[in-house]
Amino acid sequence: LGAFRKRSLVTGVVPCPRSLSTLILAEHERGAVKASSLSVVEAAKCLGEDNSISLLLAGSGPSLQEAAAHAASCHPSISQVLLAESDKLAYPLAEAWAKLVHVVQQKGSYSHIIAASGSFGKNILPRAAALLDVSPITDVTEISGSNLFVRPIYAGNALSTVRYTGSDPCLLTIRSTSFPLGPTSAPSVCNAASVDKVDLSTLSEDDAIGKSKYISLSSQETDRPDLGNARIVVTGGRALKSAENFRLLEKLAEKLGAAVGATRAAVDAGFVPNELQVGQTGKIVAPELYMAFGVSGAIQHIAGMRDSKVIVAVNKDADAPIFQVADYGLVGDLFEIIPELLEKLPEK
Ligand code: FAD
Repeated sequence: LGAFRKRSLVTGVVPCPRSLSTLILAEHERGAVKASSLSVVEAAKCLGEDNSISLLLAGSGPSLQEAAAHAASCHPSISQVLLAESDKLAYPLAEAWAKLVHVVQQKGSYSHIIAASGSFGKNILPRAAALLDVSPITDVTEISGSNLFVRPIYAGNALSTVRYTGSDPCLLTIRSTSFPLGPTSAPSVCNAASVDKVDLSTLSEDDAIGKSKYISLSSQETDRPDLGNARIVVTGGRALKSAENFRLLEKLAEKLGAAVGATRAAVDAGFVPNELQVGQTGKIVAPELYMAFGVSGAIQHIAGMRDSKVIVAVNKDADAPIFQVADYGLVGDLFEIIPELLEKLPEK
């Protein structure tokens, strides 16, 4: 199926200019739209002028209503909030959500449908694309027009420019770190986005829904910032040797107001949960400051943090590849350097 669909991605004739309208699959949490979904709004703005942007929110309960109110007022570029309220949509299961996207697209005929490139978007968009019979373009980092996109390939070692020549809608997942929220995306009191309910009558009759079941979510409650959006990330590698030693890094993160990240080797060794993994098969981050302790700098790790503004690396091996991407490198033992940092950094 993948090989067949790729045919619509080859560089070819530019389709006629069309009117732009974008549907954003948005995630919400505790009554607010997630920052990664607001980055999708920033990306949608790059598609062209006069792009009418609608945000699709689904779920059930009071937090959905709060999120809708937040969405309607949180970004001046959102012109409409579509609210799909159903118990069937209480959890982001791909079958129900993909069907929802299909229903909404049939009514709205959007030129683009976009989600952030996290587990939510990566789960839903391919299935929605199959239902709509189009080929999605994933992990977009740059938008050069309504049908011209840049995306990394070979673990970020090369950039591929892709022209979409398929039929509408053009489905995209975007890397939210490449479309940061700007000053114009601040909450606006005078924004007048309408909130409209989606007619879900056809959705409730669909057999595909109910074939997968939500069991539970296991995630760590923490006061630290979200790894994907944190301004500072402190990451530990296999060299930390144990979950207990990761506490050192957590203390440093607390002092710096940072998020904690980890290499896959540290995750596989069971020092920290999977959700902290940074890299090609983990989270993509681009903080203002990225501090790597005992991280060798494998290509798969670099793929997830190379866009960080300032990279600081501490490694006892002067030849470690991490030093090739680091702005500041310190050759030394992390078990001496972290305690020293903790001592010298002021209390928050
Ligand atoms: P190591 O490579 O073992 O490096 C440990 C480093 O710590 C060394 O450089 C050593 O000099 C240094 N060190 C040791 N002791 C100390 C000390 N006391 N003080 C200071 N420095 C010290 N990896 C990821 O991180 N993210 C991914 O998403 C990812 N995806 C992958 C996908 C695929 C398909 C594959 C094949 C691999 C993937 N990997 C990923 C794994 C990756 O190739 C590396 O194995 C991994 O990143 C190495 O982790 P590390 O740097 O913690 O460990």
